[in-house]
Amino acid sequence: MSDIFDGSDLLSKIREGFNKGIRVVNIRSKEVYETVKVKNQIQSLKKQKRNSVEDLGNSVYRVFKHKNTFDEESVRAKCSEIENIEGKIEQSEEQLRLVHENAQKELGKLKAIAKPNVVATCECGAELYEGVEFCNNCFRKVTSN
Ligand SMILES: [Zn+2]
Repeated sequence: MSDIFDGSDLLSKIREGFNKGIRVVNIRSKEVYETVKVKNQIQSLKKQKRNSVEDLGNSVYRVFKHKNTFDEESVRAKCSEIENIEGKIEQSEEQLRLVHENAQKELGKLKAIAKPNVVATCECGAELYEGVEFCNNCFRKVTSN
């Protein structure tokens, strides 16, 4: 793509801004996608936990109702299963926090990279960035004086 505007500072600034916009959208949509994924994971783990707690309750109740002998071994197994699920829920919640933290970090980096140096102020009041030939606001040609 070699059009006559190639090399124009104005156009490259616009292009830069556009690319930056796309990168922000990419970071945001990746964050949303991963957040939804991990939240679904947490939902299904919580459901698993509810089911296991219900199983545990049922088996204890059966001991009472049918005057069965209390099977301590299976109750212990069920309890450690629940504990295990709880651990996974905590891990997922930590993962959720990291997803958000990473997105914030990436956005911060992008801001640092894409922020050009302000070297002057245009007659219209807008800030003029290093190396630009035209004002971003009023498109007046920048004269170096
Ligand atoms: Zn201006």
